[in-house]
Amino acid sequence: MNYNIYFSFLSFFYIVLLLIVFFSKNRLNTLENKIYKYLIIVCFSGAILEMSQMATCLVMDTLPWLNEFVAHLFLVNIFTWITLLLLYTIAVSFQKKIIKTIATPIIVVWAVASVFLLLLPIQYYFEPGKMFYSYTYGDAVDFLKILSVMFLLFSVLCMFMRIKELRTKKYVPILTYTILFFAAGIIQIIEPTLVLLQTVQTFVTFLMYFTIENPDLQMIADLNIARETAEKANNAKTEFLSNMSHEIRTPLNAITGFSQALANEKELPDSVKDDVKDILMASDSLLEIVNGILDISKIEANKLEIINTYYSPRKIFDELATLTKARLGNEKPIELKINFAEDLPKVLYGDYARIKQICLNILTNAVKYTEKGSIEFVVSCLAKGDICRLIISVEDTGIGIKRDKIDKLFTKFERLDEEKNITIEGTGLGLAITKKLVELMHGDLVVQSVYGKGSKFTVSIDQRIAQVDALKEESPTSTLQLPQNNQMQGKRVLVVDDNNLNIKVATRLLTAYGIEVDSVMSGTECIDKIKKQEHYDLILLDDMMPRMTGTQTLFILTKLPDFHIPVVALTANAISGMKEKYLQEGFQDYIPKPIEKKELERVLNKYLNKN
Ligand code: ADP
Repeated sequence: MNYNIYFSFLSFFYIVLLLIVFFSKNRLNTLENKIYKYLIIVCFSGAILEMSQMATCLVMDTLPWLNEFVAHLFLVNIFTWITLLLLYTIAVSFQKKIIKTIATPIIVVWAVASVFLLLLPIQYYFEPGKMFYSYTYGDAVDFLKILSVMFLLFSVLCMFMRIKELRTKKYVPILTYTILFFAAGIIQIIEPTLVLLQTVQTFVTFLMYFTIENPDLQMIADLNIARETAEKANNAKTEFLSNMSHEIRTPLNAITGFSQALANEKELPDSVKDDVKDILMASDSLLEIVNGILDISKIEANKLEIINTYYSPRKIFDELATLTKARLGNEKPIELKINFAEDLPKVLYGDYARIKQICLNILTNAVKYTEKGSIEFVVSCLAKGDICRLIISVEDTGIGIKRDKIDKLFTKFERLDEEKNITIEGTGLGLAITKKLVELMHGDLVVQSVYGKGSKFTVSIDQRIAQVDALKEESPTSTLQLPQNNQMQGKRVLVVDDNNLNIKVATRLLTAYGIEVDSVMSGTECIDKIKKQEHYDLILLDDMMPRMTGTQTLFILTKLPDFHIPVVALTANAISGMKEKYLQEGFQDYIPKPIEKKELERVLNKYLNKN
């Protein structure tokens, strides 16, 4: 029994079906798709030739040349299909410019080889008693075998050459089909009476359509590439903003530093003092924006860590209430109602700085977007075992948020009601950061709002309840003892910074305490000074310096014999989490730039005011 005739009919049926589907659907205008179109056409002509070859068996006695001629054409057809498969692989693997250079010689080889396939002798094995039990052999067939192996191997080679820069996942199916076709060829050689090649060719073409060349699949693949490109562009934008923000901190350091120094001058006329106050206020807002951008880029890069310590919640919420009262001022007729639960635990373990940031964002918004009425700041707690769920709510009688806009609240740089809020300062970052922080702490943030009436933001976050004495070990919010100037008199501080303006600011701020300031502009000079046995009580060391960073300088300093001077990192690299990094690297402490008076005094007090 011979099944060849069934295989032929089946492949003919499949290829007709594929032709209809392919040409009736929208096609993509890619090079691969164009080559694929020819693959289908060649496959179709192969199916017809194969059936014709079988049909000519019937007239073998009367027209023997006809059968031979069709057999030659069939060989050329198979070789054309293999050549197209190779061109397809090349189109997927290489860039347009290279494709032309590789494809041209292949097409020349195809043309020359086809002529040989037509001219070389071919024999026909035919058993008269058995219908369709036939196959071809001879020089032309052997030549085709050699060509096919060469082209298929070349196709596999192309895929492996580019496997790392895989543009799409097309290789897996193509490689599978190439191997499949190869296997069919080997079966054909072992068992020549089993005429499989055309059928496998049809199946491969058919499967290629449903795994790679289907326009819907192509569209999805293209969309994915577009999405990846958009994500990359978005990341680049965030990175750019974050770099810019970092750069802005250095000049900002000069503005705030000199303004702070000026504000302390006693002999200034009142009008100048007012101006200085305004400069300080403006630079504070600028710093807030810069910090917001740095925070959001850090969160998006998954670099923001939650740092847990012991803290007194009562103290934190009191501080927030005081801050909010100060922000309300006397200009707006708003009453601040405060209600902190009596049963708030004395000490909690968690990231108090982040909780403070979350509350401050919501409270600041309530102040910004309310003209009159009240703001209610309520904190309650639900304790279960040693976990306390802090429920913090801020309700205002402000402008409210439209129901359909609530989803947009947390999109970065998105501000609602722009026309109405034109006079209210903001970047649209606060709530985006707040939401991400709440998520990072596994908490919940719920917004209820009636447009024109007011809004209520409720945050719930779980914190661990700690023993009261835990706070004594780490007391991050302990109030500062302001330094007694005379105790710092004559103390020597070395400032290391590659930026002259930064040195000037630090010098101006430090000399106000009667401190003697020396400065150098590089790590190497700093090491030289120490090697020369110069005496200092403290070194303020910038990190980001060309040639030798502060961290590298510190590493060398600590290796020097008898080096005991405290070294404090003074850096514009001020995103959250940096303090821990610097402490780990061996710095005694950390002051972010722009230098805040409170931070500077804390450090000076700690290292210079020991008595
Ligand atoms: P920003 O206040 O800097 O614009 P936010 O991310 O904090 O950015 O807030 C985003 C937007 O949400 C604001 O522009 C404002 O339109 C709206 N919004 C936030 N809080 C309130 C509130 N309490 N009442 C009314 N609208 C608010």
